[in-house]
Amino acid sequence: MDLAPDYDVGIIGAGPAGSGLACYLAKAGVRCVVFERELFPRPHVGESLVPSSNRVFKDLDFLKVMEAERFPHKFGAVWTATGGRREFEHGWEGLEVDSTADIRFEERKQQGVDQNYTYHVDRGKFDNLLLHHARSFGADVFEGVAVRDVNFDGPFPEIRYQLGQREIGCRVRIVADASGRRTFLGNRLKLKLKDEVFDQYAIHTWFDGLDRTATMGKGSTQKGDYIYVHFLPISNSWVWQIPITDTITSVGVVTQKKHFAKAKSEREEFFWHAVSSRPELHDALRKSAQIRPFTDEGDYSYAMQQIAGDGWVMVGDAGRFVDPIFSTGVSIALNSARFLHTDIINALKTGNTKREAFATYEATLRRGTKNWYNFISVYYRLNVLFTAFIRDPRYRLDVLKLLQGDVYDEEEPEVLTRMRAIVSEVENNPKHPWHNLLGDLTSNAFKPAF
Ligand SMILES: Cc1cc2nc3c(=O)[nH]c(=O)nc-3n(C[C@H](O)[C@H](O)[C@H](O)COP(=O)(O)OP(=O)(O)OC[C@H]3O[C@@H](n4cnc5c(N)ncnc54)[C@H](O)[C@@H]3O)c2cc1C
Repeated sequence: MDLAPDYDVGIIGAGPAGSGLACYLAKAGVRCVVFERELFPRPHVGESLVPSSNRVFKDLDFLKVMEAERFPHKFGAVWTATGGRREFEHGWEGLEVDSTADIRFEERKQQGVDQNYTYHVDRGKFDNLLLHHARSFGADVFEGVAVRDVNFDGPFPEIRYQLGQREIGCRVRIVADASGRRTFLGNRLKLKLKDEVFDQYAIHTWFDGLDRTATMGKGSTQKGDYIYVHFLPISNSWVWQIPITDTITSVGVVTQKKHFAKAKSEREEFFWHAVSSRPELHDALRKSAQIRPFTDEGDYSYAMQQIAGDGWVMVGDAGRFVDPIFSTGVSIALNSARFLHTDIINALKTGNTKREAFATYEATLRRGTKNWYNFISVYYRLNVLFTAFIRDPRYRLDVLKLLQGDVYDEEEPEVLTRMRAIVSEVENNPKHPWHNLLGDLTSNAFKPAF
């Protein structure tokens, strides 16, 4: 009996992590196969990218595809919040809580990123194009095929899937789990750790004809192509507004589990109730047409005890999910694929596919996601501090670096250390003017995640 593996690498899932990895591997001549449970195109949440994605597009010669598809160009981001006027320390006297912060990517030159914008995408189209791209490099792809199991008992891992009545096995040297928030291997190997701090839920849909500058007042028309994040007066809740085409806009409300209604009909009411706390946005939404049903995403933050083992590795959401407030998920998925493919190619060359073969990837990803996590924790814990740092020329570019997705090269960026110190100071001093602005997503917010 021939016991040679059928492929070098078997990839479970064809989202940006799976297709991105397949592109890198197939381009380098690695024999790989992708199993995707859905038939593409399929809708998916996560539509606004950050510029570090562009490095991957450049590596994969995919920028021309993004341009040909005419995905909206994303030049920057705007955050808005409501509240009263207060006086602050740290040289930020007179800063209003009712303040808007915005950034433009071109303010900071990014190594390896040659354009001053990234993209907003219709994920149905984007994921389909990236999967086609992987095929064009020579990856084999099976759509509509859900992986049921992986058998690690033999000399090579065996991916098991069902075709009609038959169960089929496919032997590979390395299994890459890119199954997204379904966390195929994480569940099977019982490695998943629920995030104790972030228990966020979201409800979202698309609108046609929304005035995207309604919340900005006069003089804001040039920012209609930005992502908007509107912080809501309901604690730890916010709304995203993402351009999908010239006229279609994706809008979603993110909130904590305790605010989220159990019944579907009540959730839709919750959406409208939540946006009504920002009347300009609410009125603009009511004047436009909702063109997709509401979809919800539940309780989505988690980590894994380990993201690699002997003969297997996780990539993208399958390995970790951090709250999407800074539009990080697709960029993390794509950059994970970028970091991982070099470890995989080395492992195949040396024949050592044990956990230690993925050590560089694990360390890089741990560093990046820890930085994202801490940054996000500061944002939720003391929202006004984020605005203050963005507005302060001493810190603006350092914050922008994180927002561009450049989080992997430093153990802890100085700006984050500074932010965390201020958060502690405010937490420990009840008389601090910011003390009563502290959010309640706290418990062990800075605990190492994996
Ligand atoms: C509310 C919310 C808002 C978000 N907003 C943003 C945003 O603005 N910007 C951003 O960058 N990110 C955002 N994200 C995150 C983003 O959606 C993800 O990080 C991104 O899609 C991860 O890509 P992935 O390839 O790892 O997983 P996915 O894109 O989820 O792809 C996984 C694929 O695996 C397939 N699959 C699963 N199980 C199996 C199986 N057993 N067999 C075969 N196939 C399988 C699935 O069908 C799917 O196609 C958001 C997430 C949430 C929850």
